[in-house]
Amino acid sequence: MIYYILAYPMSSKKNTTRSLRVLHKRRQESLKLLLRPEPIIIGNVYDVMRRCGNSSCHCAAKPGHRQTLLIYAEKGRRRCKFVRRQDAEWIKQAWLRYRDCKKALRELRALNSRELALLRVQLRWRDVRGNAV
Ligand SMILES: [Zn+2]
Repeated sequence: MIYYILAYPMSSKKNTTRSLRVLHKRRQESLKLLLRPEPIIIGNVYDVMRRCGNSSCHCAAKPGHRQTLLIYAEKGRRRCKFVRRQDAEWIKQAWLRYRDCKKALRELRALNSRELALLRVQLRWRDVRGNAV
């Protein structure tokens, strides 16, 4: 729905008002997601294959053990940490929430841009000189 509105600007007052309402609704949805209280992890989370270092373990010859790696920034420096197996799931969930928040921020930026364009159109209609501008 939003992509249709972004791709095909409408020109009538009624359609502009309707588009603004749709944008407002989408904004509310993005804000709701951004203002949720659940913790997030700002960074990146990957699963990697790792060797444990035990020479008698199967990983000495074949691909190693799957482990979750957390990459984040601290005081401007990039940090990497292996995540304990029992923490991997909630860390991934928190990271996925962060990704959703990033997506919502991008959407807000797009909504702002479209909303400003529509509001400028509405302001021109209110101009006492009519649509002369
Ligand atoms: Zn091993």
